[in-house]
Amino acid sequence: MTKTRKIILLGATGSIGSSTLRLLRKKRDHFKLIGISANKNASKLLKIAKEFNVKYVAISDKKIAKKYNHSSKILVGSEGLIELASIKCDIVISGIAGICGLLPAISAIRSGNNLAIANKEPLVVAGNIFIQEAKKNNVKILPVDSEHSSIFQCFNESHRENISHITLTASGGPFLNLNKSEFKKVQPKDAIRHPNWKMGKKISVDSSTLINKALEIIEAGVLFNLKSHQIDVIIHPESIVHGLVHYRDGSVIANLSLPDMISPLAVALGYPNRMNLNYEQLDLKKISNLTFGKPDLNKFPGLSFGWKSLDAGGAYPIILNAANEIAVEYFLKNIVSYNNIIDIIKFSLSKVNAKTPKDIEDSIEIDRITRLEVLNYIKGL
Ligand code: MG
Repeated sequence: MTKTRKIILLGATGSIGSSTLRLLRKKRDHFKLIGISANKNASKLLKIAKEFNVKYVAISDKKIAKKYNHSSKILVGSEGLIELASIKCDIVISGIAGICGLLPAISAIRSGNNLAIANKEPLVVAGNIFIQEAKKNNVKILPVDSEHSSIFQCFNESHRENISHITLTASGGPFLNLNKSEFKKVQPKDAIRHPNWKMGKKISVDSSTLINKALEIIEAGVLFNLKSHQIDVIIHPESIVHGLVHYRDGSVIANLSLPDMISPLAVALGYPNRMNLNYEQLDLKKISNLTFGKPDLNKFPGLSFGWKSLDAGGAYPIILNAANEIAVEYFLKNIVSYNNIIDIIKFSLSKVNAKTPKDIEDSIEIDRITRLEVLNYIKGL
């Protein structure tokens, strides 16, 4: 890379944030971190601000932000986060969890910033708008989700007509080998224990239900302009192969890496170049066995919501996402059971009567109404 890239990191204290900082520490000459955000964890944010001499700091929680005293410029609340994302830079990285990342991500694109996005929910609820806005503002959306980073690296756009389909791999989560009859006993601490990836709580629960993969089906449909029948999912418990692109001449191009988010982040932040991270090399001799299997849709019905929502389009993906976010939040608070997560989503999807959203405001409104309906449903459980 010829010049130092200015970076803004949304969700600096989370799991993607930590991986990004590990990368930036290895490449201090290549990147200048100019902005960071966190929801509540001000003390960790302050440490990061000091370490990287960060100019702009955003804290979503207004009460906590008031107590914060530092030489950086402090931006406050959800407006502050949107403002942070709009500051001119080379790449905004979004490592926020859930729908909260929607407006900041759109703000980044509309301000002409490239967006490296790990936060899949905005792409699920407003994918077409993201793609249109990115084109209009001549910016790139660089996938950080490991499977989508893989597809991005293997997908040759100039041969699009000869691409048959893609495959996303799924580890299967912590309950791959648990009998379905045991699901009723699952506690939050069991569901957040992912076998291969160290991630935030919400995405860990999503991985255990395979809803994460359902959201990834929609995300892939958006990012690579594919129909649901062109997106396959296989269970691959080792999480070494992340994505495959199948060409019509029978050739398949797959991407492999150790399960560490530093690799997809390096691909996105270095794009179109490659970086030398002096990183541990993948050694298949040490791994020796890679296994693959068909997902069990009876055991994990949540996966099929992905194809269904991508096919149906309109309000469907928004409702799937909103229902899931509330269900997982209430499961983590021990208010609903593990099996209720799927019940809640099924209930919400069966009631879809919302019109196709025209813009972000429509999407937010469908999201809001779905959450209210889900809360009512939960009261009746
Ligand atoms: Mg993923």
